Amino acid sequence: MTVEELKQLTCLIVDDDSFMLSTLSLVLKQFGLKQVFQADNAQDALKLIANRNNHIDIVVSDLNMPEMDGIQLLRHLGALGVNLGVILVSGEDPRLLESVQNLGKQYQLRVLGSISKPVKKDLLLQYLLDFRREVKPSPQGPATMVFADELQAAIISELIEVWYQPQIDVATFQLVGIEALARWQHPEKGFIPPNIFIGIAEKYGMIQQLTDSVLKQSIKQISEWNKMGFDISLSVNFSASGLCHLDIPEVLHSTLRNSGLRPDHLTIEVTESALPKDTSATLDILTRLRLKGFGLSIDDFGTGFSSLEQLRLIPFTELKIDRSFVHHASDNKASQAILESSISLAKRLAIHCVAEGVETQEDWDLVASLGCDIVQGYFIAKPMPAAEFVPWVRQYSKKHRAKS
Ligand SMILES: [Mg+2]
Repeated sequence: MTVEELKQLTCLIVDDDSFMLSTLSLVLKQFGLKQVFQADNAQDALKLIANRNNHIDIVVSDLNMPEMDGIQLLRHLGALGVNLGVILVSGEDPRLLESVQNLGKQYQLRVLGSISKPVKKDLLLQYLLDFRREVKPSPQGPATMVFADELQAAIISELIEVWYQPQIDVATFQLVGIEALARWQHPEKGFIPPNIFIGIAEKYGMIQQLTDSVLKQSIKQISEWNKMGFDISLSVNFSASGLCHLDIPEVLHSTLRNSGLRPDHLTIEVTESALPKDTSATLDILTRLRLKGFGLSIDDFGTGFSSLEQLRLIPFTELKIDRSFVHHASDNKASQAILESSISLAKRLAIHCVAEGVETQEDWDLVASLGCDIVQGYFIAKPMPAAEFVPWVRQYSKKHRAKS
């Protein structure tokens, strides 16, 4: 969200302290928000939200309030099924705030962040700018079957497009690679968030087809770009259920050769939480992919529960740190500690380290100072359709040349 777009936002502040209410409301008005509601207790806040005429986008809430506290408020909001952004404000320990933030996510709320009192204005502004309005179709209910059919048709007719997000070498500012990301612009329902349709693809056994379609489109595309002189590698996300055909390494090897690419042009990103525990087939496939010279990346590192064991078992060449430990890490001691140890772990293992979710100068400065190799995130560029890629590279290298 841009500073200009803030003017369309409606916010609700919930705090039992009248001084905090008026201070926060003043700050939000200075940011130019469209409307700012106030409630000095959680019950009134719920009534304001339940009245859909108010169209509230973001709730800024205190945690410690008499009668109904902030955690109870989140639970009620979760039950209402509202699609809201939440920012938590409290004088409590940052670790406690962090846990509440995670709890909010479990209630399907979009928790933008938490702020300790006294409130830092810049941080509040950053959180507001992180907010994005989303379409949130329900993955459950009777509509799902139609939805699954629609997805199936979209995959077959290649309506699931591939967008590309650049990866930059921190030391040289050079573009080194791109991650291929599936995007679905539905003709009637608009942009469908990837977590929604990927979830459906997993549930209805279409993930292999989806991955194949992304691979096919992106290998063709990167081969064209390489012929134009951009020597970059491609990263493609693989689901664990897509890693059961033993001939994947051979198929991929010949596909790349036929497109004039080397195996090290392709990195397979595997989400650690998706890796099955004791499937020898998965280990067989991943090891042979490595043997043939493909890159192997452990994706969303830090969010799974068996990361370290996976790192020991599978010959990964890259560790990709989840955005939740990167963005705003300089304001969060726990994230910063996890970020630091992940980077040093990658160094000890002599594998590449990629930080995802670098969205601000502070994020960049922090990961650069910690010695991370590669970054990816909105600070560099958002994922973009293929047609926008070459103009972006030209502009980026012009800017970069001017800087150095
Ligand atoms: Mg990925």
